[in-house]
Amino acid sequence: MENIEKTTNEEVLFEGNFIHDFIDEDLREGNFDRVQTRFPPEPNGYLHVGHIKAIAVDFTTAKKYNGICNLRLDDTNPQKEDDEYVNAIIEDIRWLGFEPDNILYGSNYFDDCYEAAVRLIKKGKAFVCDLSAEQMREYRGSLTEPGKESPYHNRTVEENLDLFERMRKGEFEPGEKTLRAKIDMSSGNLNMRDPIIYRIMKVPHDRCGDKWCIYPMYDFNHPISDTVEGVTHSLCTLEFEDHRPLYDWVLKEAEFEKPSRQIEFARLNLSYALTSKRRCLALVNGGAVTGWDDPRMATIAGMRRRGYPAPALLDFVSKAGLSKTYSVVDYSLLEFCVRDYLNTNAERAMAVLKPLKVVIENYPEGKTEEVSVEINPNKPELGSRKVTFSRELYIEADDFTEVPPKGYHRLSPGKEVRLKGGYYITAQKAVYNENGDIDHLICTYDPETAGGTSPDGRKVKGTIHWVDANNCVDAEVRLYDRLFKNPNPSDGEVFDNLNPDSLTVVENAKVEKYLHGHAPLDTFQFLRHGYFTVDKDSTEEKMVFNRTVTLKDSWAKQK
Ligand code: ATP
Ligand code: MG
Repeated sequence: MENIEKTTNEEVLFEGNFIHDFIDEDLREGNFDRVQTRFPPEPNGYLHVGHIKAIAVDFTTAKKYNGICNLRLDDTNPQKEDDEYVNAIIEDIRWLGFEPDNILYGSNYFDDCYEAAVRLIKKGKAFVCDLSAEQMREYRGSLTEPGKESPYHNRTVEENLDLFERMRKGEFEPGEKTLRAKIDMSSGNLNMRDPIIYRIMKVPHDRCGDKWCIYPMYDFNHPISDTVEGVTHSLCTLEFEDHRPLYDWVLKEAEFEKPSRQIEFARLNLSYALTSKRRCLALVNGGAVTGWDDPRMATIAGMRRRGYPAPALLDFVSKAGLSKTYSVVDYSLLEFCVRDYLNTNAERAMAVLKPLKVVIENYPEGKTEEVSVEINPNKPELGSRKVTFSRELYIEADDFTEVPPKGYHRLSPGKEVRLKGGYYITAQKAVYNENGDIDHLICTYDPETAGGTSPDGRKVKGTIHWVDANNCVDAEVRLYDRLFKNPNPSDGEVFDNLNPDSLTVVENAKVEKYLHGHAPLDTFQFLRHGYFTVDKDSTEEKMVFNRTVTLKDSWAKQK
């Protein structure tokens, strides 16, 4: 696995926030004597950066109060959900460093929902309705007009019990009948205008088989799942605020003894990123990216493959903060957190992306020596690593020019530079091929400058990186830019907002042989180029690296 340490989940993120204040109040007033939360994704896609916030809030809140946090997969929609998504969700949560206390499904509570529905009918709080979807829309009214009661509103309890039972037995077709809560058609909150709580769907369910042909609506299943499961605080995003009155109504009227309490917080929105599974799926299906784990995607799987370390992602959501106010967080904050973490934690190595061969003509043929390169200047305790040096090396093609512009401190004829960790070399002469391109560069070295210092105190202005031509491997390096041109990619057609230059593939890079054999997700700083991670596309013959992030925020300048 990764050569980068993870965990930060021992810490309580978002210390001292309004959710904790509510919970403290509940504990003080005796509304609850324990704390339990849940993370409830619908397995209809991979998790994205926004879910990291929800996961962090749910798991660390439980942790703070020594409570438990379950993963509950919301499978109330019996449409074929994919095991691929279920497995990916579990993997992503674990990779972030959290372990659900239990892995449960919304469908575990279908019996409880059914019994609750019967209780509501018996109390005269629910009725079977024959209105079609279209009629129901007409009866529903609008934000400015009250709705009208359904003509079926006043069916007797006996009739409703009988019809609901027959719905369950499969005697009616989808759309023919629904079960609706009897609340208030003139409520200012549309969710309270006699919402549907059960619908007929003659679709077998992944987990329940063909036990049911009626399924509870999300707004009915969710509060019941929470409460039966023992969740005390049901933390969710603000779009559910308008559903809270219904959440509370269901639990009160169906007479659950210890109703859960819903508390909302603002979603995390990130510039240049999509935080909607449905939209991410469209990108995948439309071929705009190579898959859910394309390193340009703001999915957890994509960001992991890109080399973003889990602690940096948690640091990011924590810095983005927890509040009830809508905001869009700038992508550069995410990159700052990644860079900050990798600067302290990533091992240093050398890679040449655009190789130019250097032949040191006064270095003995056949000789190889070892020089030392610091593993990480921020962790001197790690010491250094040996790198081989010989007569033939590769440097970046851009580190040599025949006619240096003013301020160019790298190689040009007669100019001397320091090779990182190695010697001072001076460019003598570029040798050209028949196409007029440089084939190789002839240099000389000063044997007195081992380790990169000169005994006579002679200074050089430039230090460049290099790899030993006799001890390196070929690599493909993938350089990434923003996936979208528009900071708000959902502004208009997502596909029109794609950045055509979001991926640049460097085919023929040369990297230290030391890197060969490192595993996917191992992360390095390549001197002067940024942070990189080994990609799973690597083979024995050719390594593949993803650039995680550049060393500096080059984007800030471009804007
Ligand atoms: P999507 O629209 O991507 O399908 P969703 O809102 O339907 O996402 P689910 O996967 O059903 O999300 O929800 C899992 C949990 O994650 C919910 O509690 C939801 O509130 C939360 N969540 C989803 N998106 C965000 C976000 N951008 N920021 C914070 N929390 C989020
Ligand atoms: Mg959803």
